[in-house]
Amino acid sequence: MTKELKLISPGEIRVRFAPSPTGPLHIGSVRTAFFNYLFAQKEQGTFVLRIEDTDEERSKPEWEKDIIEGLNWLGFQFQEGPGKGGNFGPYRQSERKEIYKKYIEKLLKEKKIYYCFCSLEELEAHKNYLIGIGQPLRYSEKCVNLSEQEIAKNLEQGKPCVLRFKTPLKKVIFKDLLRGEIEQDSENFGDMIVARDLTTPLYNLALVIDDFEMKITHIIRGEDHIPNTPKQILLAEALGIEPPKYIHLPLILGPDKTKLSKRHGAKSVLEYKKDGYLVPAIINFLVFLGWSPKTNKEIFSLPSLIQEFSLEGMQKSAAVFNFQKLDWINGFYIRQKSKEKLTELCFPYLIEANLIETHFETEQCPFACNIELLAQKFRAKETKEEFSFERLVNIVELYHERLKKLSEISELVDFFFKKKLIYSKELLIWKNAEEKEIKQTLDKLKKTLGKIKKENWERKNLEQVLLKLAGEIGERDRGKLLWPLRVALTGKKASAGPFEIAEILGKEKTLERIEQAKKILSAD
Ligand code: GLU
Repeated sequence: MTKELKLISPGEIRVRFAPSPTGPLHIGSVRTAFFNYLFAQKEQGTFVLRIEDTDEERSKPEWEKDIIEGLNWLGFQFQEGPGKGGNFGPYRQSERKEIYKKYIEKLLKEKKIYYCFCSLEELEAHKNYLIGIGQPLRYSEKCVNLSEQEIAKNLEQGKPCVLRFKTPLKKVIFKDLLRGEIEQDSENFGDMIVARDLTTPLYNLALVIDDFEMKITHIIRGEDHIPNTPKQILLAEALGIEPPKYIHLPLILGPDKTKLSKRHGAKSVLEYKKDGYLVPAIINFLVFLGWSPKTNKEIFSLPSLIQEFSLEGMQKSAAVFNFQKLDWINGFYIRQKSKEKLTELCFPYLIEANLIETHFETEQCPFACNIELLAQKFRAKETKEEFSFERLVNIVELYHERLKKLSEISELVDFFFKKKLIYSKELLIWKNAEEKEIKQTLDKLKKTLGKIKKENWERKNLEQVLLKLAGEIGERDRGKLLWPLRVALTGKKASAGPFEIAEILGKEKTLERIEQAKKILSAD
């Protein structure tokens, strides 16, 4: 494997990511992009982005934008591609028609491809015939021997046509750098359609021409492309081109071991961004979908990945997409952030959830926030209560340890910004306690807390006073006191501890919430 690479000197290695802009950049494609990028970085090669937009109907500029935005977000910088330029452009297939024409005309002249004028009905009838006799579906080769005159006449009459490849019958053997030799008989390919006309090649032919023209040395792509490879090799041979080297990445499976799909939650990489996954977490996660290090190390920075990455560590067996692992890695990276930085990162989510507002227009901010904005004043959208940046930091910090993705923050902290909470009686009642007991407890809590001076309203004091109260009322089970208090303050089944929360909420709000909670309980 290493020997193969040495035939090409470092710096000469050229790889490409060649997505079709027919949908958002999903996580499977991002994995392909990443391995290309990583390999290029490792070998000091060039990473090219080529947009394969030959399917005019399904290709959309907005998907190209989504792809480029996704790559930029992750930091997978391409050196050549749309908007970047390079010596081998244009990098959109739709802009390469003149280049394709040269090759298609050459193939036609050498009689390696031919015009086919068969109608859809004819093709359909032949297909049904083959199905009837249990034969593999392949073109009948009816048009292979049309005379020059017939062709000229049909073209003149504007008869619909395509160009077919005179597929040579042979065993195609190619070497995959991960999997070794792969062999496939061309017998079942039939004379495949390779172009619609002289300037419009279909996928396989366009790709072969482009990879050659762009001097691509290694094709790194998903295993699902293995069946295309022998076809592309035959086309390369017909053009007298030496094919690049191949690395087919393993399939990505969902947790239920079927091919990863939307059903499993596979989505556009920009949606992961929106959900609050951090770039280093995504990178760490992606690399394990096809590679494993020599050690047990689980977390890598990008530079250390580039250093440790080698083809030898790549796997051919399918990789399972484990969401819990992604959340775990993301949580790890969230914990690495300072509390101030984390607050800055959480800020757009709080705005988006309509919890806080500030002086600038909401549209300006979400997901493009920066620290300067944080010097501004914030207020709760509902109550208009002012919040300093420090107070927001204290709120976010409560969840620093348990946050798995940034978007979770709004639901965890919403009660700090709301006017009134919606309480559930069942939730307020601790274990087997009676309703009236809890009501009395809340009453005692209110009285005791009411006596604490505003200037002493600090977590430590609150804790001291409340634990003392628990002792006075003879409660061995502190939950009887602290549970209803916590629920009264948050309205939630789970949250940070009541002392920390009460401190940030402030005296007035704490007492107000205890009173509100009390009201829903009956005294008898
Ligand atoms: N346009 C192809 C795709 O999106 C790329 C094929 C390749 O990488 O060779 O699947």
